[in-house]
Amino acid sequence: MPYGFHGKILHVDLSAGTLEIEEPAEEFYRFYLGGSAMATQYVLKNTPAHADPLGPENTLALMVGVVTGAAISGNSRATACAKSPLTGAIGDAQSGGFWPAELKFAGFDGIVVYGRSPKPVYLWLHDGQAELRDAAHLWGRLTGDVEDTLKAELDDNKIEVLQIGPAGEKGVRYASLISMKNRANGRTGMGAVMGSKNLKAIAVRGKQKPAVADPKALKELARWGAKNFPDSNVAGMGKYGTAEVLMGQQKSGGLPTKNWSSGVFDGAEAISGETMYDTILRGADEGKQDRLGRDTCYACTVRCKRVVQITEGPFPAEHEYGGPEYETLATFGSYCGVSNLPAIAHANQLCNQYGLDTISCGATLAWAFNAYEEEMITLADTGGIPLNWGNADSMIKLVEMIGKREGFGDVLAEGSARAAGRIGRGSEALVVAAKKQEFPAHMPQVKRSLGLIYAVNPYGADHQSSEHDGTLEGGFKWYKDRLAQIGFTEQQEKYSLGDEKVRFAMATEHTYSALNSASVCQFVFGPSWHLYDMEQFAATVRAVTGWDMTVDELQTIGERSVNLQRAFNAREGLTRDDDTLPKKLSKALKGGRSDGFNFTPEQLETAKDAYYAHSGWDAATGNPTRAKLSELGLDWVADAIE
Ligand code: SF4
Repeated sequence: MPYGFHGKILHVDLSAGTLEIEEPAEEFYRFYLGGSAMATQYVLKNTPAHADPLGPENTLALMVGVVTGAAISGNSRATACAKSPLTGAIGDAQSGGFWPAELKFAGFDGIVVYGRSPKPVYLWLHDGQAELRDAAHLWGRLTGDVEDTLKAELDDNKIEVLQIGPAGEKGVRYASLISMKNRANGRTGMGAVMGSKNLKAIAVRGKQKPAVADPKALKELARWGAKNFPDSNVAGMGKYGTAEVLMGQQKSGGLPTKNWSSGVFDGAEAISGETMYDTILRGADEGKQDRLGRDTCYACTVRCKRVVQITEGPFPAEHEYGGPEYETLATFGSYCGVSNLPAIAHANQLCNQYGLDTISCGATLAWAFNAYEEEMITLADTGGIPLNWGNADSMIKLVEMIGKREGFGDVLAEGSARAAGRIGRGSEALVVAAKKQEFPAHMPQVKRSLGLIYAVNPYGADHQSSEHDGTLEGGFKWYKDRLAQIGFTEQQEKYSLGDEKVRFAMATEHTYSALNSASVCQFVFGPSWHLYDMEQFAATVRAVTGWDMTVDELQTIGERSVNLQRAFNAREGLTRDDDTLPKKLSKALKGGRSDGFNFTPEQLETAKDAYYAHSGWDAATGNPTRAKLSELGLDWVADAIE
């Protein structure tokens, strides 16, 4: 018997209505760990080249990792992978909560979904059993309603439900998967893929907790985390959530504002983590927000999830839909010039009810606001809805219309790049996306290696695919011992993008891909400011699985994952020419500490040359070479993409 996992992957063919359990060997688990790497290899093997992302031939893989469900912080996350309807490349979306751990306890390490059901169904997994059930009565309903209905129907309040909302049913290209009514596998449109398969939900419950190889060592690591958390760099996240960083971004000129025209926002304080804590966090009116306004994932000591509650006024928010993360505060706030915190909280709730990615949704709206202000979009286009900066009422109206694909919402449901293609009139120049995926709220103009990663990341612009620049700049003095574990011993200059910074971007991309493959939280484990360092991450994998895992082996698994994803894209015909940044980044920012900053195509091309060279990829195409794939044990991938 393996430790930490079951050795069971469920394969569901929705066209045929069949369920099969695969029992891969232990070596398979050690080779991929789970999460992104394992999911991608299933998608690559089972999705034909050039498949329609919303057609039955696309494969959707949902994977947890070998350590998922272990009793230590940060060990309940899951990856969703498929060909993305937003980017046309590999899709990858991560989420935490309780669903990942409960899937493991239900007896499975992952689910691979094929085909398309002739009618809406949901999947019910419990204690090693799996069955498909009719979901006609759930179709068209909001997430909160569906979760409550399934819990009542299955007569168990403790089941966990991963589902799509109406946006996924309607094929919104950035539809998300939602669990707990407020956790999202948000990015790259995995909700639309699940919707295209007529699969409404996956309910899980069980008591099959896998044995741990060294319970004493695991307990020791968990104890260390709980003891050191109050003095750690993530303690602030415990109080303000990810919104803790908003005012720091503003100070550095790195808070994207008015569709990336500036890095500073006049209304920053009004939408900050501090204001949220003082005003709308659940229990704030009685000073009980530390108890009522925080939520967590399975067994996590950090408790970084915010819960808001607004009972009066035009923008109510129910606590069960959680609260806005930093990215959501920025995309619906500073991106759109909106400083109305309740409106942002309400937009967050609508996204969780309809199953929409808050980043792509808010950023697509920001593009529309920008185009309206530039008179490229008119009231005739929007159906009479004015899109002047800061118009919270219009923003809220459009989020709901996107979720339903109604009116102008149907255009915006395509994402900013396709919407601009449809509208034209020069609005294409206002799109801020890479591989058609909208930028998250960290600015390459002030975090330059992140610009490279936004361009080269296989699933489009993403802020959780590498370590940000500050760690190797001013932060180096605090993190040098930790950074040495992955081979970085020299501090780099602020705003630099020399060869060492490029190597840092690539190596930490491998680190983050390893975290996504083990399916652990990137706030808990990581190479610098995180609660646990990379040696402790390796020690956690050792304690759970009994394998002699090292940091080097983890880095190699992360590299394997990145190469698998780039190989998928190569087979789809993507090349170096698809690793681009939007034109808008060439324009100088206005105001604050980043006044005059830009990021030019020439700077990107130089960085790409160095990045491909360090990666061992072909400089002309930007694709993995046979030699590199072979070195990573992926000869079958080289054969598959040729
Ligand atoms: S740090 Fe936050 S997101 Fe990560 S596992 Fe803990 S509660 Fe969940």
